[in-house]
Amino acid sequence: MAASDQHNNSLNAETPTILEGGNSLRPQKRIFLGLLAVTGGLFTLLLAVLWYVPYVGLRNIHPQMPLILGAIFAFLLFLAFAGVVILALTVLLGRDLPFSRKLRGVVIKLLLPLMSAVGKLCGVSRERVQQSFIEINNQLVLAQNLKAPADKLLLLMPHCLQFHECQFRITGDSIHCKRCGKCNIKGLVELAEKYGVGLAVATGGTLARRIVVERRPRLIIAVACERDLSSGIQDSYPLPVYGITNYRPHGPCYDTQVDLERVEEALLTFLLPS
Ligand code: SF4
Repeated sequence: MAASDQHNNSLNAETPTILEGGNSLRPQKRIFLGLLAVTGGLFTLLLAVLWYVPYVGLRNIHPQMPLILGAIFAFLLFLAFAGVVILALTVLLGRDLPFSRKLRGVVIKLLLPLMSAVGKLCGVSRERVQQSFIEINNQLVLAQNLKAPADKLLLLMPHCLQFHECQFRITGDSIHCKRCGKCNIKGLVELAEKYGVGLAVATGGTLARRIVVERRPRLIIAVACERDLSSGIQDSYPLPVYGITNYRPHGPCYDTQVDLERVEEALLTFLLPS
């Protein structure tokens, strides 16, 4: 049995499928929802303080001033909590709710940096916040029920999946894999052929961005570590990216692996039937 097959068998046993992740309360979701609640609480506290402090002095300017300011803050608070509730329901129910597409933008642009800071305060590691962010991003992408034709779906892989002694060039579009089976690139090439989708291997963020600009995909299934996936999802927004984290049994950036069944499951989820 090839090395990649052996590893995949052991990895699959502990890897939940896309459908299992649809509406269950997995640890990544719990972290995200917990941090979301703490962020919401801090926001409330901030608004309360911002309202209370001038409340004492504003009455002297105009008797109605504290009430007007209070109404503005209450409205902001309502907007923030409506957003939190829609986001939480989209994640929990796995369904596309009104404004949930816009909320993916808010999560990507605003909430990740904010929650990284809140996570730090609460003692949650950056990697766990990133895992949680990727999971939530995936749920929001899944909730949109997106489908793309094969030529608009791109598998974007990291170079560290390649066996470290392999001499064949596989970066960018030139994938000259000889399919010896010593790494997951063989399986990925076979999946790309089977479904007629594009496959590209990037050595870093710059090449990944160039590939995306040249290929113009409608949807990306990306594999990488938590850090690269988080930044890739942010860089590519509004382009939907479904992220799958790689496995690093030999340490970071060295002979990493991916669960091929999970990649195929994502392909089947997003591929438009021909
Ligand atoms: S499967 Fe392909 S990329 Fe991997 S080691 Fe063999 S020839 Fe190289």
